[in-house]
Amino acid sequence: MADGFEPESRKLLGRLRDTMASEAAGQERLDHITHIIADSMGTEVCSIYLFRDEDTLELCATEGLKAEAVHETRMRIGEGLVGRVARTGTIVNTADAPSAKGFRYMPETGEEIYSSFLGIPIQRLGDKLGVLVVQSKQAREFSADEVYGLEVVAMVLAEMTELGKFVGEGEAMAARHQQQVEIHCTTAQEGVADGHVWLHEPRVVVTNPIAEDPHRELKRLKEAVDTLRVSVDEMLNSAATGGDTEHLQVLEAYRMFANSKGWMRRMEEDIGRGLSAEAAVEKEQSAARARMSQVTDPYLRERLHDLDDLSNRLLRILTGQGKETGAEMPHDPILIARNIGPAELLDYGNKLRGIVLEEGSVGSHAAIVARALAIPLVIHASQITTEALNGDHILIDGDTGTVHLRPDETVVGAFRDKMAMQAKAQERYASIRDLPATSKDGQTVSLHMNAGLLADLPSLLGSGAEGVGLFRTELQFLVQSKMPQRAELSAQYQRVLNAAQGRRVVFRTLDIGSDKVLPYMKTIDEPNPALGWRAIRVGLDKPGVLRMQLQALIRAANGGPLTVMFPFIAQLSEFTAARAEVDKAMERERRLGHPLPSKLEVGAMLETPSLAFASKKFFKDVHFLSVGGNDLKQFFFAADRENELVRRRYDTLNVSFLSFLEGIVERCADTDTALSFCGEDAGRPIEALCLAAIGFRSLSMRPASIGPVKSLIRRTDLSAVRKVIWDARHRGEQSARAAVMDYLRTQS
Ligand code: PEP
Ligand code: MG
Repeated sequence: MADGFEPESRKLLGRLRDTMASEAAGQERLDHITHIIADSMGTEVCSIYLFRDEDTLELCATEGLKAEAVHETRMRIGEGLVGRVARTGTIVNTADAPSAKGFRYMPETGEEIYSSFLGIPIQRLGDKLGVLVVQSKQAREFSADEVYGLEVVAMVLAEMTELGKFVGEGEAMAARHQQQVEIHCTTAQEGVADGHVWLHEPRVVVTNPIAEDPHRELKRLKEAVDTLRVSVDEMLNSAATGGDTEHLQVLEAYRMFANSKGWMRRMEEDIGRGLSAEAAVEKEQSAARARMSQVTDPYLRERLHDLDDLSNRLLRILTGQGKETGAEMPHDPILIARNIGPAELLDYGNKLRGIVLEEGSVGSHAAIVARALAIPLVIHASQITTEALNGDHILIDGDTGTVHLRPDETVVGAFRDKMAMQAKAQERYASIRDLPATSKDGQTVSLHMNAGLLADLPSLLGSGAEGVGLFRTELQFLVQSKMPQRAELSAQYQRVLNAAQGRRVVFRTLDIGSDKVLPYMKTIDEPNPALGWRAIRVGLDKPGVLRMQLQALIRAANGGPLTVMFPFIAQLSEFTAARAEVDKAMERERRLGHPLPSKLEVGAMLETPSLAFASKKFFKDVHFLSVGGNDLKQFFFAADRENELVRRRYDTLNVSFLSFLEGIVERCADTDTALSFCGEDAGRPIEALCLAAIGFRSLSMRPASIGPVKSLIRRTDLSAVRKVIWDARHRGEQSARAAVMDYLRTQS
């Protein structure tokens, strides 16, 4: 960078810095800014429009347009040239504004006499904050240098908006991080939480966007980039020894960006125009985020994400704001993250009141862990990582999938009423904890809980569950970074059995594949993973892990009773082969002199429709069957359980599905096979009631559902519900839900 490079824009930034440091109130400061920009650019007009709400821009300050229009002129995003800049996030530079596409005449501003128009979006890290406009009578296009200079100014304005430098007048001027925000999300784990924000990756705050000495800033940038390159190289070296190719690819992309000349050059130029090193990094990051919102190609999006992560690292190096900011975790933390891995989540233990993720998916491992820990979790919370600041008050309504950030008193009041009602219901459930789930007409349903981690087990005693109806052993595998050893597994299973204090625990052998991918196992690309090489199919084709698991289970039982269940059995031969593995493991253990289980039950999950029609021999061979409704339903309706577009399309109470389940109940009754249901539907009170009504005598669900399910069963006549379902079917209704709900209303 040559000395004296773009002195005009640096001078302008110097004047902006003085304004920022002045004692002036928000509006005065803003007015002053429009004045100095117009003066320095030699234009008659300079205006600043800021978002009043998501869709509306408001003229907040102007030099040159009529003063009366300030805080009066508003436009919707996309409306007029200003609205176009805001909507697209791109610059409009025209010599003849009145004939430009989208021009809208606003008489109150008196702007028709201005011919040239340059509009620059004011945005920060993907957040649209407003539009900066200069206009002049002379019909000319603004030069590339002028455009660039004004972009730097817009960046500084974005920082000032962020820092609340314009607070004081009108809602449009409220500091961004003081406003109340409501975000609609997807629920991954129900429940409500009231607490304060704890950012998994704290935001880097740039307090000094403008710098006096570009040489010093350039030096700082170079040193920081060097440090960054070294750390990326180190990460690459250690990843190369680990052999994780996907991770390596990400790091290769990091290295490519870290060494990118274009990236460096643009930041150097911005510094030359007067930005501080961190503001220059952030400007590039904002541009990358803006591109990210437009790119649909998943590969490119990923690369832009990489660049974003890299910029964050660079910002942390420059500002010294590491992950450890010295901030103290609130006593009621609600974790905010873009995404989080299961192991990182487990590190927080049960300190967290709730979790809000900007990305994530319902079937993600983090969601599984959150479910195990019974922490409310919502995902797809748009912009939450940029909106939330450490310590902000936040409410999660996991039932409706809503997040209230910095809620006002009315929202807090309504929310706390809801929490109080739920607490009352909890008291009611606690009072029936030791009573059986016996219906009004005397039918008893045994209720068990689903678990998968040691963290789940404390719920066993408190929830009133009779035992663990489904222990998903794969969760332990998923949250580790390497394949567990047999001794480790055996110790874990022993802890589970100890915690169960003699209650029955149904250990399901490893159910991986489909959405559950072990980080340390080679992934294979499959066209339809849900229909692919998963669960028992993997277990039988590569029996090493299954054998280790069976051995670990037998050792953990240590001469006590043991119950094993195989997932995803689709035909008799699979069960026979899996059962043979158990027999072999028993024989091996006997030879080694280990005590054998006092009682051994070996069952299967019924998750594919094929199994419902298996031969009588199959039903007689298994000790018990458990319907995995999550998978069974997705195959019955051919609707992917992970696909948001179809996930909720088919009702569990659809009469076809209920008839199908009734058929399974009948076959089990004929063959005297113990039967239970352990999919998510078993934990939904209305669904659970209907399952009980059609003959399921054992249900396994998440612990928090046991109270509500038991309470409803105890209040209801199951034979009557069964008749309601049958009548609905005879009337030709597609789903029994409406009829059952009507019936329950008459009973309450
Ligand atoms: C099911 O499919 O219903 C089930 C309980 O197993 P998972 O959800 O672990 O696939
Ligand atoms: Mg399943």
